[in-house]
Amino acid sequence: MRAEIISVGTEILLGHIVNTNTAYLSKKLAGLGIDLFYHTTVGDNPPRLIATLKAALSRSDIIITTGGLGPTVDDITLSSLCGAVDRGLVFEKGIEKDIAQYFKNQGLRKMPDDAKRQALIPRGALWFKNPVGTAPGILIKHGRKILIALPGPPRELVPVFETGIVPYLSKKGYGGEWIIKTKTIRTAGLVEAEVNKIVKDLLSMGPATTLGIYVHLGQVDLKITTKAQDEKTADRNIAKIEREIRKRLKTYIFGVDHETLESAAGYALAAKRKTLAIAESCTGGLLANRITNISGSSKYFLMGVVAYSNKAKTSFLGVPGKLIKKHGAVSKEVALDMATGIKNLAHSDIGIGVTGIAGPSGGTGKKPVGLVYIALADARGTMVRECHFIGNRQDIKHQASTAALVLLRSII
Ligand code: ATP
Ligand code: MG
Repeated sequence: MRAEIISVGTEILLGHIVNTNTAYLSKKLAGLGIDLFYHTTVGDNPPRLIATLKAALSRSDIIITTGGLGPTVDDITLSSLCGAVDRGLVFEKGIEKDIAQYFKNQGLRKMPDDAKRQALIPRGALWFKNPVGTAPGILIKHGRKILIALPGPPRELVPVFETGIVPYLSKKGYGGEWIIKTKTIRTAGLVEAEVNKIVKDLLSMGPATTLGIYVHLGQVDLKITTKAQDEKTADRNIAKIEREIRKRLKTYIFGVDHETLESAAGYALAAKRKTLAIAESCTGGLLANRITNISGSSKYFLMGVVAYSNKAKTSFLGVPGKLIKKHGAVSKEVALDMATGIKNLAHSDIGIGVTGIAGPSGGTGKKPVGLVYIALADARGTMVRECHFIGNRQDIKHQASTAALVLLRSII
């Protein structure tokens, strides 16, 4: 069974809206075990949409369109579907009743005339209720093929698909011949090229199980995807490659799927019953923000200070003015004093100090934009790392907070 998705809308072609409907439907079809071979986007242009629908009918069994079902003249999907399969539109009383009810629920007694247009469907088509809007989902059987038209707004498309189309497809036996399962292994502390070198041979195992590398700022993810006949086989395929990845990447792995560096660090702090305090300069509180995004962080996070000015570094954290003058606010020495200063102030087990130049201005030949020092202090002593990040101000701040979390995890 081959499916394809056609999204309709000039707005999408112009880049004014992001095609989230196609992403959503693609994931859902994979979950249903239906092969998907094409994504196409067409503007609000009937001849081009009809031509696209005809091409889709020549190569796919299930064709799903999104958008263009509204009551206005630029909503051309239904008339184009009629053109492609050579059918006329017929008036459907049940839909008119639903639309009238929808307007009544909205507090409007009279249904606008334009809205009635949405009660017209291609002859012989099935329709599926739209619980949050006026355009129903439409399904046309065309020989052994089916064409499905869904409304454009995601908040309408999702319920129509889930409550109407999915049960229909299951009942009629579409899909289910295989399942797709994924698992993401998250790493930090290595750059893409290093991870690539370590897992290179695993990247071309295919076709049943594939491994992909996805890079975020300061983080490299490995996504395992497997296609199998059943859940058990899928789990076995994933476990096999996950074991191999864990053997090779060891402690660089901090979590899987929805786990984050901050949740992993928080989990480790809570498990070891250690407390944390943070003194930030260039990250402006971002590190404390990420740490406190984790529910339950009050167990281990005691306090954070954004000590931006030299004066604040001295008065709050006890960094000597002389030291700042001698080495500069962005220096190993100041980062270390910030870490011990906040540790002493908060009476925490661990203190972190972050100071750097986020740019775009403020860099010098010796201290360029992107230079960040991250220091840690605990009962065993202190350590400091010099980092050089590339990117805009936000990127540098984000990478600095990520590097601090990586360093924190390594000492808990
Ligand atoms: P309406 O009745 O609101 O006109 P419609 O079914 O005619 O609905 P469109 O006119 O094509 O749909 O799009 C309406 C809105 O739905 C768009 O402005 C956009 O916000 C959203 N939308 C449309 N297509 C997509 C898509 N592929 N991905 C995400 N959002 C979309
Ligand atoms: Mg519309």
